[in-house]
Amino acid sequence: MAKDRLAEVLKDWEAVIGLEIHTELTSTNTKMFCGCPIDFGGEPNTRVCPVCLGLPGALPVPNKRAIELTVFAGLAIDCEIAPWSQFHRKNYFYPDMPKDYQISQYDLPFCGVGHLDINITGDGVEQRLDRDSAENVTPAADGSGYRARIGVTRIHLEEDTGKMIHIGGSDGRIAGATHSLIDFNRAGTPLIELVSEPDIRTPEEARQFAQMLRLTWLTLGISDCNMEEGSMRVDANVSVRRRGDTTLGTRAEIKNMNSFKALHDGVAHEIVRQAELLESGVHIVQETRHWDAGAKRTSSLRSKEEAHDYRYFPEPDMVPFEFTEEWIESVRAQLPELPGARHTRYMTEFGLSAYDAGIFVNDLEMAEFYEAAVTLAGMDRAKAVANVILNDLSAHLNAEGLAITESRVVPAMVAELVELVEDETISSKQAKVVFAEMAETGDAPGAIVELKGMKQVSDTGAIEEAVDRVIAANPDEVASYRDGKESVIGFFVGQVMREMRGQGNPKIINEVLRSKLAG
Ligand SMILES: [Zn+2]
Repeated sequence: MAKDRLAEVLKDWEAVIGLEIHTELTSTNTKMFCGCPIDFGGEPNTRVCPVCLGLPGALPVPNKRAIELTVFAGLAIDCEIAPWSQFHRKNYFYPDMPKDYQISQYDLPFCGVGHLDINITGDGVEQRLDRDSAENVTPAADGSGYRARIGVTRIHLEEDTGKMIHIGGSDGRIAGATHSLIDFNRAGTPLIELVSEPDIRTPEEARQFAQMLRLTWLTLGISDCNMEEGSMRVDANVSVRRRGDTTLGTRAEIKNMNSFKALHDGVAHEIVRQAELLESGVHIVQETRHWDAGAKRTSSLRSKEEAHDYRYFPEPDMVPFEFTEEWIESVRAQLPELPGARHTRYMTEFGLSAYDAGIFVNDLEMAEFYEAAVTLAGMDRAKAVANVILNDLSAHLNAEGLAITESRVVPAMVAELVELVEDETISSKQAKVVFAEMAETGDAPGAIVELKGMKQVSDTGAIEEAVDRVIAANPDEVASYRDGKESVIGFFVGQVMREMRGQGNPKIINEVLRSKLAG
């Protein structure tokens, strides 16, 4: 769908978006209510036992680590932690769930209201039309975008289902399949579900929220958050209303968005689809829709269930949980620096723009590389180090198709290169040559400078000699400079540089030239 079409629709319509994000707690190593190991793939139905197969008489034993990690996750996004909570049974029939109910949480989840701040920079800024007036929005200090605070309703803990594999249908879907297979290896994997408030207004905000959440979970180390393998799964509730309306429109839930791009495009498509239907006088049906990234459209899956369809009741095989204030605080004390705080630190301490800080914060390996280089180069060179990484190194990685961890360039080399420029050993022009050489060979920048005899000459004596020779050889140009034609200075700098085989310090050459020509 064309970007212009979305922009056009958003002029008249406001989108109201809420996300439901499921994340498997892959770092617990064992399942939620039994000791079976968790892993991706492998021989089907090999990581199973009577509990996760739902055999009669098998009793669940809750995974303590999974509960700790859920509270850890909640604290990271400022959720209120419930002092008293419990599991409920969610009853429904589906072949991938052998018990015919899922142990989940209902009205007493472990984590209650919280929030997550997102930073929007770049192209997506324009999608938010009320960015100067909305209550939850703060413009970035450097004018490069805005920060939005998105409310979180809750996070609860449940068990994942098994996996159905449909044979013969297109795209692995049940439609058109000749038969289906079932693998219970995933059944019982601890799964947290985060529900956001409907505070999201644009496809870009939806993407950033999911991306920020993934970064937060990765920083906490609670999950590998692999979207392709399904460890993190995002569903979006989307409705639209005329700008100025305060009542909510009928929403549709979109599933199967297994990348951030798919989330953005699926939501954008759904906004346009609903607005066009409403404009032509057709009502929106509350339903679940499937995003088909290949065909770039959503299609109806089923009408949406309501909570009462599930006949929730308290899980009778487990006692409720009571968390003391002390225990909650001991979990809080383990929180590392989170992406939002890191973004702010890069702007205030390292002097980066919101946009540049966002690039680092969105890529944990790049941020790690950057921090290591800044530690070596010093805080006052943080901005120069960022420039080398964001320009030279990024271009090199793109051209070679490499991840930052696969490159020959290591943080110490970037720090050294920045030092060589800052102490005027080489010019910034020479630095480009040194960078290309070190990316190619993996040699240290200092060694390359030595080997190529590239040192920038800042020695005033040598520069003065060269300047004298150039002045003596070009009497006409000297005369025109002294007649007021200042632009001739460029010619002189070029001549001196040539005389010094490109190694003179341009700043000093300029100073010496001006003083001698004035004389
Ligand atoms: Zn098991």
